[in-house]
Amino acid sequence: MAVHETTGTVQEQSRGTRVNPFDMMQRQLDLAREHTDIPDGIWEILRRPERSLEVSIPITRDDGEIEVFTGYRVQYSSARGPCKGGIRYHPGVTLDEVKALAGWMAWKCAVVNIPYGGGKGGIVCDPTRLSERELERLTRCYTARILPLIGPKQDIPAPDVNTNASIMNWIVDTASLLKGEAVPGTVTGKSIELGGALGRREATGRGVMFTTIGVLQRLGIDVTQARVAVQGFGNVGSVAAQLLAAQGAKIVGVSDVSGGYHCPTGFDVDDLLRYVETSPGHLLAGYSATGMEEITNDELLALDVDVLIPAALEAQITSRNAANVQARVIVEGANGPTTPEADLILGEKGTLVVPDILANAGGVVCSYFEWVQNIQCFAWEEKETNQRLGRIMQRALTEVWDLSHERQISLRLAAFVLGVERVAQAIKLRGIFL
Ligand code: GLU
Repeated sequence: MAVHETTGTVQEQSRGTRVNPFDMMQRQLDLAREHTDIPDGIWEILRRPERSLEVSIPITRDDGEIEVFTGYRVQYSSARGPCKGGIRYHPGVTLDEVKALAGWMAWKCAVVNIPYGGGKGGIVCDPTRLSERELERLTRCYTARILPLIGPKQDIPAPDVNTNASIMNWIVDTASLLKGEAVPGTVTGKSIELGGALGRREATGRGVMFTTIGVLQRLGIDVTQARVAVQGFGNVGSVAAQLLAAQGAKIVGVSDVSGGYHCPTGFDVDDLLRYVETSPGHLLAGYSATGMEEITNDELLALDVDVLIPAALEAQITSRNAANVQARVIVEGANGPTTPEADLILGEKGTLVVPDILANAGGVVCSYFEWVQNIQCFAWEEKETNQRLGRIMQRALTEVWDLSHERQISLRLAAFVLGVERVAQAIKLRGIFL
């Protein structure tokens, strides 16, 4: 398989119990409530998804045995437009995780002000244990099962953890065959040949780079003096590292499921990328460079850096390790990497957290461009995509930053207030059906 959207690390424990991402998302939402004047009834609508679908996915394994997998598609909100959000393949997928991720998509699309609601999907599976053909059968059967819900005007999937352009290609092929018509706008993150957008693969990492630079400028930190650590070396972390290094930042820490790596003089990110292109499982394990040492995931999160970019899974920075974070700024490349308890600890320490629903929105913004191009049957040049992406990310950062300073609230609260108020306004304008 080619590059994946993100590379996850094992979920951590917080206060002895596994973090429930949906509880976490609802707690974040409730914290924003006192900063809005959204009425109770609308608030109740905002606290839960519109629709959750669970499907069974039987496939014939290569050895002839039948195995039945479980998948989900959650449509959190369609108030501002069709639902939008990726599909995750991971053994840790649960309905509550998909519900949380779908909610974060709804707030994210509203923060960057693109005409979408929020959705998300997932299959409980370990893709490293499936052959390419098994992965294709799994994807096609899942697509058939969720087909009544998806489409360019209903709900548009995209890549997420452990899914990529090949998987999106199978989805668009299955959907087109079953519907009897070409429906390229059913899914984004496809190969360019099938209507994918130039720049989409890099877009989440590019958005993280734009946001990091915008925040460093506001803090008066010169990017060429910035030391950066990145957790997760998948599609988000690796591209963010590469683009920040190209701006002059020093990438001193990287990690993935295989472990953490520290190089105080700065990694040659292009060399790291060349390595993972052919390494087993596209992992960093076995990489070596002068001046580099191996560290644990916890040590990576605690490195003395200016910027820490968690770009793996949820609940990585928790009440257990937040006090050890030394970074001045955390830019969330992953969805939900910081728990609300960790947010409190980081807030007291003065660590600036740039929230996921702002920082990692570059992917869905570029997905929006891809969908627009599919609808118009007109392909843009990559330069145009990147310029438009930069403008949208900068506008969203300015809006969130200004609101946070005006109201004296954290960037996360400001982003939630901005996003949730936009969704609430759409619900009010549409009115309640019956
Ligand atoms: N999976 C990405 C996210 O979490 C992209 C979603 C999309 O492009 O729809 O934002």
